[in-house]
Amino acid sequence: MNYGLVCTHCGMRYSNKVQLFRCIKCGSILEVYYKYPSKIKLIGEKITHSRYRNLFPIHGKLFTLGEGGTPLITYKMKGVNLYLKLETYNPTNSFKDRGSSIEISKAKELGFKEVCCASTGNMGLSTATYAERFGIKCYIFISEDANKKKIEKIKKQGAEIIKVEGDFNTALETAELFAKENDVFLCGDYHYRKEGQKTIAYELTEQVNKPLDFIFLPVGNSTLLAAVFKGLEEFKRFNLLEKLPRLVAVQAKGCNPLIKAFNNHIRIRYQHPKTIADAIAVGYPTFGFEGLKSLKKTSGIAVSVKDGELLSAKKKLAMVGIFAEPGGAAAFSGFLKLYKKHPAYLKNKNVACIITGNNE
Ligand SMILES: [Zn+2]
Repeated sequence: MNYGLVCTHCGMRYSNKVQLFRCIKCGSILEVYYKYPSKIKLIGEKITHSRYRNLFPIHGKLFTLGEGGTPLITYKMKGVNLYLKLETYNPTNSFKDRGSSIEISKAKELGFKEVCCASTGNMGLSTATYAERFGIKCYIFISEDANKKKIEKIKKQGAEIIKVEGDFNTALETAELFAKENDVFLCGDYHYRKEGQKTIAYELTEQVNKPLDFIFLPVGNSTLLAAVFKGLEEFKRFNLLEKLPRLVAVQAKGCNPLIKAFNNHIRIRYQHPKTIADAIAVGYPTFGFEGLKSLKKTSGIAVSVKDGELLSAKKKLAMVGIFAEPGGAAAFSGFLKLYKKHPAYLKNKNVACIITGNNE
């Protein structure tokens, strides 16, 4: 689709030909905006990531490793129709692959030979895998508290690892500077990744095939939350969805800046991450402002869960043969908490939880 870039804060517009990741005027995150046609053609019958190709900002070839089209299963819970979307079935075991397909396709389209990104683990593994497979050199900036098993997996994909003293946000700043100074394509939680991740919302809509009341999802950088909201809005625009479900954001209690901001009606403030859920240990979410907007526009709910609750949700999933890391089980953990505390909220509702990753 034809598109441009727009600042999420001041509204400044940019051409899609400029290689920007933040607004020149105010430094905020950008977003892809489309000149939407009145109708959209979905490709093929099978639900896959490439089925939604006409809703991507890609003009050249779409580089894919078969991401998306992940299973949706029902989970037996009394009084609720609960569906689990298993993003752990993606090529590198996490939802990040949907975004990596778009970012690597865009990097190739623009003629870049190198990419870099900051990561707590899963995004680095996904980016490194796609870069290696499609002949691009990859640098991954890792925070000092990153998961060691994930670092080993990234190394195996041939990426160069740069360890940064500090947390994820320090790694993020370093990666952005590196990309700017060395003319390297910056991957990560920016506008192109968001365009890839929105396909989870399309798939959920098509797979459930009845109006969903709630979608539970984990929040780290808040890209998934903003992306799912965008995907739902787009499907509604094209009359492929009747009403927007309520979005439920789940964060670990030891790193919940977005939940605090939403529930207390305050601005997002940095919080030093202290949680076992490394995949969502982000002290200041890049798409936080967008995430809050997504919650407000869907009458959303924000839930914090303790590390113990994450582990117990992970265990419960394992008992039915679903394997997830603590951050990957966060949505289900948030669901269990709400189900226990406010059962009336969820009574007879159609609810989906996104199980995001399994890379322990
Ligand atoms: Zn701006």
